Amino acid sequence: MDNILEVSNVSKKFKDFTLNDISFNLKSGYIMGFIGPNGAGKSTTIKLIMNLLKMDSGYVKVFGKDSIKDEVEIKERIGFVYDEVSFYEYLKIKEVKNIVAPFYKQWDENKFKTFCSDFGLNEKKKIKELSKGMKMKFSLTLALSHNADFIIMDEPTSGLDPVSRREVLDLFQDIIQDENKSILFSSHITSDLERIADYITFINKGSIVFSESKDDVLDKYIVIKGNKEMLNNQNRRLILGIEESSFGFTGLMNNKDEVLKVFGNDVIIEKPTLEDIMVYTNKKR
Ligand code: ADP
Ligand code: MG
Repeated sequence: MDNILEVSNVSKKFKDFTLNDISFNLKSGYIMGFIGPNGAGKSTTIKLIMNLLKMDSGYVKVFGKDSIKDEVEIKERIGFVYDEVSFYEYLKIKEVKNIVAPFYKQWDENKFKTFCSDFGLNEKKKIKELSKGMKMKFSLTLALSHNADFIIMDEPTSGLDPVSRREVLDLFQDIIQDENKSILFSSHITSDLERIADYITFINKGSIVFSESKDDVLDKYIVIKGNKEMLNNQNRRLILGIEESSFGFTGLMNNKDEVLKVFGNDVIIEKPTLEDIMVYTNKKR
């Protein structure tokens, strides 16, 4: 079995928001960054994968099994890191562990102890005494101590200072390298993904814009810069997203041949960052 995750034509309608027929896959052994602006539908998608929300149509398979029918079996092998651990605030690390551990057949107490000591987590400390970075490490410790093969995290790095963010990201990479796990994590911080993701799924306004390897994405898109006089109604239509000032324009395109054909050598062509791609996709012409 190749895909550890298969999201297929999944839709979910809320009053003011629709997750619109989304599909993407993740191969075993890789890190996928799930990126999009606030309100794009990341948490909704993750809740649907975890069967915490009911989808209107489509299906999700994890480890090749159906996310609803085989939920119990699947969850035994998923490490789910919540964006909020705050409901445990007044308990000690040890007490939270004692609540969580019995849910998993594969709970490994030695592993838990090892991670705690590696991460500098004192079992006697209350959750509310931990920094955000330490809380994240504790959540990860819980996920890793039941030998999960697939780790799903909703915004694990948001709210962390740059130093702890870097630490947590490096940790993800270690997990993948040493233990052959797969990771899906959502973020609205593009630099997180640029650093560690193998694949990027970009969601915007409830629709998937692309789901591809990071290298392909960064190769495919191009940023062009030029004078305003170069723009007309026809070539404007080929630009995916554009920002104009009184001096000129900056635009995003995804076909280099087309750029050369339409604008010739008059425009400046640059490599985009993921942030460029995210920002300009939000600025439809
Ligand atoms: P993200 O995690 O990308 O920031 P979410 O998936 O949390 O976005 O939310 C997407 C949209 O769906 C938002 O506009 C949010 O208000 C709406 N939404 C989320 N959950 C519900 C719900 N249970 N009922 C109604 N609307 C919801
Ligand atoms: Mg969210």
